[in-house]
Amino acid sequence: MMDFLLMAFLYTVSFVTISYIVIAGKYEYHRNGWIGLMRRNLLSAMYLAGSAFERCVPVSIIRGISNITNYILFTRNPCVQLLYGFLVIGGSSIYTFKVIPFFDKINAFSVVEYVFIAINVTFFWICSTKDPGAITAAHHAEYMKDYEPDGVYYSTAQECYTCKLVKPARSKHCSICDVCISRFDHHCSWVNNCIGKRNYKLFLGFIISTAILCLYTTFVVTVVFAYIVVSDGLMTMKYVDLDGRHYTASIRILTQYLLVHYPLLAILFLTVSLFGLAMSGFSLFHFYLVLTNQTTNEFCKRFFPAKHRIRLSRQPRGHGSRNKVAKRRTGTDKHDPAQVTQKITETPWQISTPYNKGVWKNIREVLIQT
Ligand SMILES: [Zn+2]
Ligand SMILES: [Zn+2]
Repeated sequence: MMDFLLMAFLYTVSFVTISYIVIAGKYEYHRNGWIGLMRRNLLSAMYLAGSAFERCVPVSIIRGISNITNYILFTRNPCVQLLYGFLVIGGSSIYTFKVIPFFDKINAFSVVEYVFIAINVTFFWICSTKDPGAITAAHHAEYMKDYEPDGVYYSTAQECYTCKLVKPARSKHCSICDVCISRFDHHCSWVNNCIGKRNYKLFLGFIISTAILCLYTTFVVTVVFAYIVVSDGLMTMKYVDLDGRHYTASIRILTQYLLVHYPLLAILFLTVSLFGLAMSGFSLFHFYLVLTNQTTNEFCKRFFPAKHRIRLSRQPRGHGSRNKVAKRRTGTDKHDPAQVTQKITETPWQISTPYNKGVWKNIREVLIQT
């Protein structure tokens, strides 16, 4: 029998790998490599599977599935917020009814967990409801003053096709919220809101508090499991399977024992440890963005510069026409197109970020001034 932990590990690795291949494989950085090849093969297989599915299932069901998928992925909807609520209420309930009873034995301090939950839910709620920096006609002039166009990714006179307003530097139109957002970072399904100039630090608070909450819960449940192993003498017990084979204690046997006898605690442990690791990595990534004064949108433009290179390569040949391209892209005459091409073809680690003012000024700008 395959170990449950091994299955969970393989599932997580597969999920992360496939997600990365599907999301990143289309960009030029990977397109001609083996990740791009795997993405093409994966999409072909999915297309064939989809075609076979469509032939076997009635049209009305296909249309229903398509509508639900579009609603969840491409509209503002509370589905993921409800999932967050379910995880918080479910996790808190398991903690209250299955972990707290051990507290007089392991000498823990129960109120800490609830303080972490309260902080996390507060950040979540404010981040979900606060205006991320929606650029309307009334506030447009104010947002235009925030940042100077860098001449590479942001030009001076680019108009948003939908909002019919000149895009301020560092802004982007969110197709889900259907509005341009100042200092656009990304659209976050967890909080069902864009992350932009006005709520970015609240978003940081949310992901950091989630990481701390999950890691703390992982630690407490680990202590509870250690207490159970020691107090019940699980290390010295003999174990017998359904076929009558005898086993001595091992990590695999103890894991299976705890899964069978304490399933809710095991589910809580697996959930918070995986979320804790994921949110810690995500928080570290955003620390890097803050220290270098980048948004996720700008990082992606640097790391996956496909769109910019394609735009340049599609223009007619000749120095004159390339100059026009550069002028249109940069909105100014002082940028040499050759220099622009060279800049955007380098990796993000090799070039300095345009809004980087040094670590302390970056921190001040992101966490205090915005
Ligand atoms: Zn717009
Ligand atoms: Zn949005």
